[in-house]
Amino acid sequence: MINATLLKAALIAGWFALMAGLERVRPAAPRPSPHRLARIVHNGAFWAQGALINPLLTMPISLWAASAALWERPEALTGIGGLILDLILLDLWIYIWHRLNHVTPILWRFHETHHLDEFLDATSAVRFHPGELILSAGARTAIILLAAVPISSVLVFETLVLASTIFHHSNLRLPGGLERALRVFIVTPSHHWVHHHARRADTDSNYATILTVWDRLFGTLSATARTPDMPIGVQGASERRFAALMARPFRRAI
Ligand SMILES: [Zn+2]
Repeated sequence: MINATLLKAALIAGWFALMAGLERVRPAAPRPSPHRLARIVHNGAFWAQGALINPLLTMPISLWAASAALWERPEALTGIGGLILDLILLDLWIYIWHRLNHVTPILWRFHETHHLDEFLDATSAVRFHPGELILSAGARTAIILLAAVPISSVLVFETLVLASTIFHHSNLRLPGGLERALRVFIVTPSHHWVHHHARRADTDSNYATILTVWDRLFGTLSATARTPDMPIGVQGASERRFAALMARPFRRAI
């Protein structure tokens, strides 16, 4: 378990370094000059909080849920076939959970922190309010219990989600043909940047995390194409101060 967690951390660190390097060599959008350092520091602080919550809360309750599953899996649902089914199920779950975060006011209060980033790059992938991480861990417990998901599948899924999230938030400009081909199957930067467009209709679309099929299946695919000058953020809202971002979900009215 510890070895698997260390392997996951090493893979993700390498992938993050690759994406953070490539997005500087081939940027899709010009990086705004004001508040550049403060943004990176704030996203780093959100990452540090998440790096504590994962081993202290998310993994222990996932381990408990996997060991307390409500039924025992038949032989046919184990091995590589079972893993693939688990990954599809968990990706569908994260699509539904992400969509709930947008349409449920109490959940949006926490998820808004992620969307208040006014530019996107690999660091945006780790910018989540600790409240959202805790709520998300709790919601995922239910799926692990109900579907008897083994902890090995949870770990593989977490690694894929992080890799995908770092990739699709990045400012990497892929060759047009490659981007269009990948987008048929997986979430790419052009797909996810539209989700961060500071226009509510686009913010409430393109919810997928790994597979784009969910947005097509459930009618949430935006027709908007990403442009380099597309404003990123939340329509009608802005907050750059870290303490205010932390306190914002608990304010009486926003
Ligand atoms: Zn969102």
